[in-house]
Amino acid sequence: VERTLSIIKPDATRRNLTGKINARFEDAGLRIVAQKRLQLTREQAEKFYAVHAERSFFNDLCTFMTSGPVVVQVLEGEGAVLRNREIMGATNPANAAPGTIRADFAESVEANSVHGSDSPENAANEIAFFFSQIEIL
Ligand code: ATP
Ligand code: MG
Repeated sequence: VERTLSIIKPDATRRNLTGKINARFEDAGLRIVAQKRLQLTREQAEKFYAVHAERSFFNDLCTFMTSGPVVVQVLEGEGAVLRNREIMGATNPANAAPGTIRADFAESVEANSVHGSDSPENAANEIAFFFSQIEIL
């Protein structure tokens, strides 16, 4: 089965939405097979989002992602990468379909409550960034 990396972002942990967001994943048939709450360092945030290093929003994004605790998790299920992207909704909550996490919870295009890997290949790299094999079960 497929796995994807999910991050519940600081805007969501601050508003105590971890359980409500996890219920969305579980109700959709995704299994949380690893999970931890942590504070990203600036260095970790910059490395995790390195693909966006040249974008205008990169600096603000790294500041936001280090503004409070995040919950990093591995979700498992059939087509988990795409399935999770559907559950999350569009990056900008103004464009997110009703019933998606971002439509229902996100504050802005930056503070959009969740991250999800965008391909199985990136998922494998992002999972390895946060978890060792023995932490996933
Ligand atoms: P994520 O990678 O977090 O799952 P995504 O794949 O939908 O989101 P990306 O294009 O990868 O979107 O952007 C990564 C993150 O950068 C977004 O989730 C958002 O927090 C932030 N971001 C993207 N575009 C903008 C923007 N125009 N202004 C501010 N922040 C942005
Ligand atoms: Mg992305």
